[in-house]
Order: sequence, then C-alpha cells, then structure tokens
Amino acid sequence: MNSQPTSLREMSCADDYDPNSMSVAKARAWIQSFLIPVTGTEKINIRAALDRVLAEDVKSPFNVPAHDNSAMDGFAVRFDDLSSGEDVTLRVVGTAFAGKPHSASVATGECVRIMTGAVVPPGLDTIVMQERAVLKGEQVTIGPGFSRGQSMRYAGEDIKTGQIAISRGKIVRPAELGLLASLGVSEVLVFRRLRVAFFSTGDELCSIGSTLGVGQVYDSNRYTLYGMLTRMNVEVLDMGVIPDDPKKIEDAFLQAAAMADVVITSGGVSVGEADYVKALLTKLGEVVFWKIAMKPGRPLAYGKIGSAHFFGLPGNPVSVMVTFYQFVREAILLLMGVTQLPLLPTVKVPCTNALKKVPGRMEFQRGILSQDAHGAWSVRASGDQGSGILSSMSVAHCFIILDEAQGAVSPGTLVEVQLLEGLI
Ligand code: AMP
Ligand code: MG
Repeated sequence: MNSQPTSLREMSCADDYDPNSMSVAKARAWIQSFLIPVTGTEKINIRAALDRVLAEDVKSPFNVPAHDNSAMDGFAVRFDDLSSGEDVTLRVVGTAFAGKPHSASVATGECVRIMTGAVVPPGLDTIVMQERAVLKGEQVTIGPGFSRGQSMRYAGEDIKTGQIAISRGKIVRPAELGLLASLGVSEVLVFRRLRVAFFSTGDELCSIGSTLGVGQVYDSNRYTLYGMLTRMNVEVLDMGVIPDDPKKIEDAFLQAAAMADVVITSGGVSVGEADYVKALLTKLGEVVFWKIAMKPGRPLAYGKIGSAHFFGLPGNPVSVMVTFYQFVREAILLLMGVTQLPLLPTVKVPCTNALKKVPGRMEFQRGILSQDAHGAWSVRASGDQGSGILSSMSVAHCFIILDEAQGAVSPGTLVEVQLLEGLI
C-alpha cells in the first residue's frame, strides 16, 4: 500500500489491489486502514471494567510502594554496622510490622526485627533475612557477606507519583484490576462496548430445536460466532437465520447496520451465491469481495453499510472460525479502542507428520501439540483438514501456519504454530 486510500472505491483502483488473489497480510492492512475506533466512554467500577478498554491514562497519585520497606522477614540494620567482615552482634530494640511501623530512632549497634512489607525505620538501610541471623534474647548475631540495600524495596521503585501506571487503549485484565486497586482507584473511564450483530444465510440452515429435513444442516456458525464474540466482551446481537431471499437479506442488512457497529454474516459470499449479495451490498453500502490467498476461508467480503463495518465470512464452519481469528478479531479489538494489540506469539516446532500443501495460498491447518519424554514439543495435524470439519477445531491446540510459498511439508520440518489459547 503506497498511499492511504480514503474509500473502498479508491482502494480498488490501487496498483497492487487484486481482489482475486489478496494475501492475508494485505487484506489485514486494507481492513485496518478503514477502522475508526469507538469514541463513546463511560465511567464504571473497576470490577466491571474487566475485559473492557481503558479510555484514559491512569496516573499514580503516589509513589508505589509509598515507603521504603522490607522484602523479607528478618532484621533491618545499618549496613555500616556489618562492614567489619566478621560476625557482628546487634541489640534488637523493637519490631516493625507491615502496617505498624517502628518509629523510635535506632542507634549505631542496634537493629529492628522486621516483617515483609513493613516500613524500614529511618537510618536503617539493609535487611538481613532471618535465616541468616541467630537471635538470642535481645541480641542478634549476623555473619559477613551482605551488601548495602540488600532485600530493600524502595519507595517509587514500581511507579512514581504522577507516572502513567496504565495507558489508554489497554485491555483491563486481572493484573490491571489489581494495579488500579493498589493505586486506590475505584472507578475508571472505559470505551463503550462495541455492538456486533450477526446472522447466518442459507436455505439449508435449520435452527437447533427443530427437526432436520433432508439436506438441511443445523446452523452452527451463529454459535461459534456467539462464543468468539462473547469472549471479546462485545455486545452480541444474534439475528438468527435469514433464508437466501434478496428482500429478506436486504432487510436484515439494514436492520443490523442501524443497530450495530459491526455486522457479521456467514455464508453467501462464495462464487454463484455472491452475485445477488454483491448487488445488494453495492446498493446499500461500499463493500469489496475478495478471494483471499488462504485456506480455509478463500471468499471474504469487507466494507461499510452506513457507518457499520461489515464482514461477510464464508459459510463453512471452520472457515468462519479461521477468518474470524485472522481478520475480524483484530479489527474488533482496534474498533474497541485497543491501542496495544494483545501479544499472540507464534512458535516454531517440528511437525511429526507429512502435510499436504501447494504453493500459492497461506494455510491454517489445525494442529495438536504434544511433548516427548524430554519435554520437547512437536505438532501434528489434527486429522481431516476439510473446512466443514468442526471437530478438527475442537481437538486442536493451535493453527499450523504455512505461508503462501510453502509446498508440501515432510515429517520433521519446523513449522510455525499459533496457539489457540490466548487467541480464543
Ligand atoms: P456457503 O458459503 O453459503 O456456500 O456455504 C458453504 C458451506 O457451509 C455449505 O455446506 C453450507 O451448508 C455450510 N454452512 C453455511 N452456513 C452455515 C451455518 N450457519 N452453519 C453450518 N454450516 C453452514
Ligand atoms: Mg449459502
């Protein structure tokens, strides 16, 4: 992408734009260039903010920790008293507990018994852990080998007063909840929840609860979508199954776009079926149909209907999940206001079986990870890789990502895997 297109129409005129063979990376980049994050915010209790996106920088109102304190149970001493290089005996003049400081002054040759987290009394600068000291009555004997400042936690060493503790655009996870609480913050400003509407298209689809007719299949895509979207903490609007009837689909598109920030459909974007959906969407908004150079999930539509972002996913159950995770998930996170996308590291492990693959398309095969007796990890494909075989997703731990240029994989080859944990 040389210059930023301002409309989908302009984009389709770019030199490197080929809707019949879009690489995964390019499609991702095109989509990202059209995303405008939500701006609405609300102030909520921190517990309710779990999995929401911060809409403000949270600054620390004080030093964390607020005082120099002990990292160990033991004795707070003056390091200069220990520097002879031999055993030293000091008089214990009191005890400092966490939350109950020892505030009387401590003279040379004296020390204070101290608990983890207790404020270090003024003048003392080193902690001797109790396992390294011998206490007899009010006398404690300490051997050599300490350094100045040992086992001390210093005021502000975690966060300084006024420093940004958590940045705007960060997803609130359990660590952030704890961090907010440690700063005494009870409410935070978060972006409003994204509204995502979805429906399935297909005359062959039957909703669970009714009896399958000949040639019918139960609609599973609305359930995987429900699960994937709910995990992302968006507001989910399930619009059911819409038959392959242009009028009904048009009404559903208009209704969805009027109430949601994002509209997701499954089915109806493959060759043949796509034609009238294409005509409809050209009438209702700006939508592009891509044949992505990937497997599964070749057909994909993306665009805008009114102000709503539209993702037209293929109908096959595994294709829905793969295209959701490879395109929609990241787009939704960015629309939610996330500025630091969660890390999704991929790792290279040997593949123990042969994989069929022809160059020209990026493949996302489902893999099962295992560890050998020495603890080394390897991956194998999880059986039939057909795009309708949902059970291969259910048993999988990861996607085996084979890039476009890759050909068949022989056993023992290192392959890149993307773990489903963290992605899902
Ligand atoms: P399509 O993309 O509409 O041509 O559908 C491709 C395949 O996926 C067909 O076998 C459909 O029956 C199947 N399919 C489409 N939508 C769903 C759905 N919601 N649940 C389960 N299978 C579906
Ligand atoms: Mg269909």
